[in-house]
Amino acid sequence: MNHWRDNVRTMVPYVPGEQPQEGGIIKLNTNENPYPPAPGVAEAIRNMDADRLRLYPDPSSTALKRALADRYGVGEDQIFIGVGSDDVLSMSFLTFFNSKKPILFPDITYSFYDVWADLYRIPYLVRPLTGDFRLRREDYYIVNGGIVFPNPNAPTGLCEGLDLIEDILAHNPDVVVIVDEAYIDFAGRGKSAAVLIPKYENLLVVQTFSKSRSLAGMRIGFAMGSPALIAALNDVRNSFNSYTMSRAAQEIGTASVLDETYFQETAAKVIRTREQAKKDLAELGFVFPDSSSNFIFASHPRVPAKVLFQELKQRHIYVRYFDKPRINHYLRITIGTDEQMAALKKALAEIIAEQA
Ligand SMILES: *Cc1c(COP(=O)(O)O)cnc(C)c1O
Repeated sequence: MNHWRDNVRTMVPYVPGEQPQEGGIIKLNTNENPYPPAPGVAEAIRNMDADRLRLYPDPSSTALKRALADRYGVGEDQIFIGVGSDDVLSMSFLTFFNSKKPILFPDITYSFYDVWADLYRIPYLVRPLTGDFRLRREDYYIVNGGIVFPNPNAPTGLCEGLDLIEDILAHNPDVVVIVDEAYIDFAGRGKSAAVLIPKYENLLVVQTFSKSRSLAGMRIGFAMGSPALIAALNDVRNSFNSYTMSRAAQEIGTASVLDETYFQETAAKVIRTREQAKKDLAELGFVFPDSSSNFIFASHPRVPAKVLFQELKQRHIYVRYFDKPRINHYLRITIGTDEQMAALKKALAEIIAEQA
């Protein structure tokens, strides 16, 4: 009976942050951008021609690829585009992590990595971060089948320097090293590992339109690397779906990349609000790693994170809480508008006073 069940691929899936659908809440739980996408995006949507949806989209996303190549100073053959960086990362796992040796990533990190490793049956070894959540480069000098980590890291917000990334690359010439830069645009200039691409053929840098470009709902991500890595990714993608990027995603993504001024201004606004939020949280007694991203990973010495999480939710403020070892004393708070952060501060002050 039911022997087909023996053949089913079973998984413990990734659990995304809540996406409450009611209005009137303050949503600081999934690191979205509080500002709208570039004005050119709305214009691209207005100009969209429904009749053209009869036709398959450009399988190569040529216009978007060209815009990204210009913006990041790489060749068009050095860019791979996917349905959000989750798609890009998942396809990268499938393409590059194809060894019997374990891949390496930190213990506290993006919680999709172990899910993909399990899905694709890739052996892995987690390398614990230090007590203050730093990555130790020597942990990545052991024999391995590939390396992946976010920089800035999620959910800590900490950004490691390029010298650390270069040391890891130099010690691992025989495997692919993936740097997941979902939050790099909030880290300030000169932090992206993309500058190392000409020197290291085994480096893949992954970025997304979901956070700094305010396009989480459109699902666009991309990778930059050597033409050899990008060709391998394209071969794998074309082996299961050539038309991953819809016409809408390609046109909207291109409009976003073409408005550099808006992009810079929006990132700068989020960074300014983040720096103010650090002062406000410190004033309330919170401790946190010094974030270089669009969220703060904060812990209060007296009030448990779970209580804060639940009390905030009662007040219609959503933040993220991870009930996991080493991080269950922390809340991950996305940076919203100045008004949203002021409401958060007021609510936290009330809750802390009540719990005292
Ligand atoms: C948000 C995030 C992603 C995925 O974002 P997409 O919306 O799929 O582009 C990837 N990695 C990290 C570390 C993230 O926080």
